[in-house]
Amino acid sequence: MILDTDRDASWLPERIYDVCVCGAGPAGITLARRLAARGCDVALMEAGGFGPSAESTDAYRGDSVGIPFLPLHVGRLRYFGGTSNHWTGHAPALDAVDYRPRPDCDLDGWPFGREELDQYADEAGAILESRVPEHAHDPLGFDGKDELRAVAIPLSPPVRFSAKYRREIERSDRIWLHLHANLVDFAFDPDRRGVTGARFRPLRRKQEFVVRARHYALCLGGIENARLLLNCRARSESGLGNETGLVGRFFCDHPHVRIGWLLYDRQRVPAFAGERYYAPTEGFIAREQVLNYCLRLPGTAMASGDGLGARLREAACSTEFIRALAAAIGSAPFDCGNGAGPGLLPIEGVFEQAPNPDSRVTLTDALDAFGLCRARLDWRVGALDLRTMRVAVTQIGRRFAASDLGRVQMAPWLVAEPPYVPERREGFFGGSHHIGTTRMADHPRAGVVDRDGRLFGAANLYVGGSSVFPRSGWANPTYTIVQLALRLGDHLAARVKG
Ligand SMILES: Cc1cc2nc3c(=O)[nH]c(=O)nc-3n(C[C@H](O)[C@H](O)[C@H](O)COP(=O)(O)OP(=O)(O)OC[C@H]3O[C@@H](n4cnc5c(N)ncnc54)[C@H](O)[C@@H]3O)c2cc1C
Repeated sequence: MILDTDRDASWLPERIYDVCVCGAGPAGITLARRLAARGCDVALMEAGGFGPSAESTDAYRGDSVGIPFLPLHVGRLRYFGGTSNHWTGHAPALDAVDYRPRPDCDLDGWPFGREELDQYADEAGAILESRVPEHAHDPLGFDGKDELRAVAIPLSPPVRFSAKYRREIERSDRIWLHLHANLVDFAFDPDRRGVTGARFRPLRRKQEFVVRARHYALCLGGIENARLLLNCRARSESGLGNETGLVGRFFCDHPHVRIGWLLYDRQRVPAFAGERYYAPTEGFIAREQVLNYCLRLPGTAMASGDGLGARLREAACSTEFIRALAAAIGSAPFDCGNGAGPGLLPIEGVFEQAPNPDSRVTLTDALDAFGLCRARLDWRVGALDLRTMRVAVTQIGRRFAASDLGRVQMAPWLVAEPPYVPERREGFFGGSHHIGTTRMADHPRAGVVDRDGRLFGAANLYVGGSSVFPRSGWANPTYTIVQLALRLGDHLAARVKG
């Protein structure tokens, strides 16, 4: 069922829903569908319409004051289907190691292990229609013996949640999708623990309205969940659920980084098409006391024929380069002159970040059209993040040198002492994966939501999406977001029925 709150509010039913789900991206749509399948009545509240609009997008504008980031209103899409309307479709799961605490690196873990979300693996895969690409065999033979293992990343077509689920929701007699409904605040009962209503503003009309439900779930995206909570100041000036000051903190993205270049022997490395991924083993991560990551080599076809490749090959074969490289990776020089000449590939990595309380979302004084303070993002990259990148390029460099398949040149900013965050044009950018700002924990001192996703201190308000991840691993987040939404759906349905 679809209702457009911009047209008229007279139809708004005096219904009390089982659950009010705010935000219709992958998290919100998955949660609403799961609840409906379990027999619950759901109000699914979406700020935008069925397509992009300047007015809705404007509320996503904000300041970015840390490491250069895509403008906040560019990466995120504020309409039905959310950012899945332009996501790329990489759909890997987190590794088991990503869930565990890492006292060696001073990192908290998730309140549960990977097996908890593995229960939802098949269903999440079906929702995202993800498949492992056929060319998954490894041309380099990195089988884990060298503490580097080939990884196959499942790909979604990619599924656009708007296209895939619009019709189903339209026909549903359990889901009431409200378009142009902008969540602005919550109302509480007198003891201030239970939410009694969620307050919305239509996009183009001024008349505010309230939706009532037994439970409420925030699924607004990893930056917006925190922004909304910080803006809700009826209970406390510091925002909702922010008694310990943790809302908005520990913001992580996945730095996508060109950490170096591989100069390889064309006669010994078989040509391969399509990108290949390599990740460190758990043993290596523990021994080196680093974060998790995944390295990417584009297909060898990428290396041929372009002017940049030729120039880099020339530079890379200079004596100076060979000497620096040999010193950096502690190996004998590589013969650049054999066969058809060496091939050259960029080595890129996707990295986990160590959650840092100073990497955070706060509010600016500027207001959006709904009277909410805009977001201010201060994304930071720390010393352990950079050390991990250096260890990663050294690891793969040693591996190529040991087998004499090639040599690796480290990016100059990683060779520097101390390493630093380079300019975006040198191949360093975020993946638009917004993680950690309402992190999950077993105690309010350590997080914002409990293991079920319920806001500490609120009886019936839950949070979904990547903002609850206490650690990010290297895996793109949407698969895990969908797993968590299914789990939250089961939890809420049990509470409703119970
Ligand atoms: C270019 C790009 C490529 C990406 N590629 C990948 C990839 O390959 N793999 C991967 O895993 N991830 C990828 N991502 C990230 C992925 O898109 C997000 O992880 C995912 O969309 C998050 O889902 P979500 O439902 O939590 O949030 P969103 O998709 O952001 O949805 C939030 C929803 O809430 C609505 N909303 C916001 N504020 C309000 C409000 N006040 N009231 C009511 N509704 C509101 C929004 O309109 C939106 O519909 C990519 C992102 C970008 C930008």
